[in-house]
Amino acid sequence: MWRNWVGNQSCEPARTAAPESEDEVSELVAAAARDGLGIRVAAAGHSFTPVVVTDGLLLDLTRLPRIRSLDTDRRRVVVGPATTIGEFGEPLWAEGLGLANQGDIVAQQIAGAISTATHGSGLEYGSFSSSVRRLRIVTATGDVVEATEGDLLHAAQVAVGSLGVITEVELEVAEAYRLREQVDHWSWEEAWEPFEELARQHRHYSFFWMPSDDSAQLYGLGEPGVSLADRCHVKIYDAVGDDVPDSGEPHRRVGPAFRIYPMVYEPNFHELEYFVPFERGRDALAAMRELMLASLPASVFPMEVRTVGAEEAWLSHSYERETVVISVSGTPGTDYWPYLRDVDRLLGEFDARVHWGKLHFLTREQLLARYPRGADFLALRASLDPEGVFLNAHLQPLFGLQ
Ligand SMILES: Cc1cc2nc3c(=O)[nH]c(=O)nc-3n(C[C@H](O)[C@H](O)[C@H](O)COP(=O)(O)OP(=O)(O)OC[C@H]3O[C@@H](n4cnc5c(N)ncnc54)[C@H](O)[C@@H]3O)c2cc1C
Repeated sequence: MWRNWVGNQSCEPARTAAPESEDEVSELVAAAARDGLGIRVAAAGHSFTPVVVTDGLLLDLTRLPRIRSLDTDRRRVVVGPATTIGEFGEPLWAEGLGLANQGDIVAQQIAGAISTATHGSGLEYGSFSSSVRRLRIVTATGDVVEATEGDLLHAAQVAVGSLGVITEVELEVAEAYRLREQVDHWSWEEAWEPFEELARQHRHYSFFWMPSDDSAQLYGLGEPGVSLADRCHVKIYDAVGDDVPDSGEPHRRVGPAFRIYPMVYEPNFHELEYFVPFERGRDALAAMRELMLASLPASVFPMEVRTVGAEEAWLSHSYERETVVISVSGTPGTDYWPYLRDVDRLLGEFDARVHWGKLHFLTREQLLARYPRGADFLALRASLDPEGVFLNAHLQPLFGLQ
């Protein structure tokens, strides 16, 4: 029995395996495909969508070697697929390197993160997928392909595990950098009015807007006795030089970037995340605030607001456009679907794309309309996996032959 981290997805695969080498992955894949089984990889299980679920073969790749080589001059790191975001921190820092950007947590495996275009915040940076320079992928026949450039690379950079099993990842990384944090509680007007200027001015500008008094407590953002209803928990990170000393002062920390980014969450929310074009972002945010105030009490969780820079991965939320990221959550155990559907309808009017790992209602028609290279992805995918071995019931309607 496999279950994801928040507990809203589970499955009972016919076979499970934890191979120790790429050759073993190839044998397992070829045998499962011959036997007519579907194949999925379970990474850290932090997706909210049924992207891992299978009744066929479920692979755990944590026994494959993790960090394999580091090239400081070329700023490249070669790793195994199950290397977690957290595992990059110290070894890269020791070589004067760092991941160019990071999201809210470090538990994800790199192959899981890139398969869903996991991202942080900042218009100068794409998602993890945008740093991918080479992938080794075991395809449905058990053969290995290397995606190094052009169409194959841009399709493979975000493929939700639908092209095959990623067995090696080469990433371009950044020079090591330190960050200064500024966390404050601002009014909606202070955070929203100058949104575009602040997003351009700072390396990272993001905020959580709280619809109700309870919202802040749900993500551990509040302070006892202080009402944050209709206020914003704002985070700004900027790079600083060595003249600024490290500091552990709450809300004003300074230190190596990989130590500043991570937050800690309880698995008490089911998240939806959509991406709208940057220039329409402020309007979308204002419309979302109105919707959430009108939809209470279902929308008790904060709305998280971030940005992502444009990138080349075909299935990325930020393919060839800068985006504003809007995330909201439902409370487990409640019927939050009508509220999330309202969000889907509203943001659909803003040409929203989705996070493949977070709840969404995207249809194949919308995929083809909102992702300019969506049709090319489907064609390339079908050529690599004509039998749909790497699809499951969730992905078949989106990516499968019809
Ligand atoms: C608390 C929390 C915080 C989060 N914060 C952020 C955030 O800040 N930014 C953001 O963008 N997202 C965030 N997410 C979403 C999360 O980053 C994505 O869902 C990500 O995919 C999870 O990585 P994982 O290792 O758990 O992958 P999984 O959920 O296990 O898998 C994701 C997909 O990748 C496929 N896959 C995994 N490994 C391989 C492989 N080797 N070969 C082929 N396919 C593979 C799986 O089959 C699946 O389809 C968050 C989620 C949670 C629960």
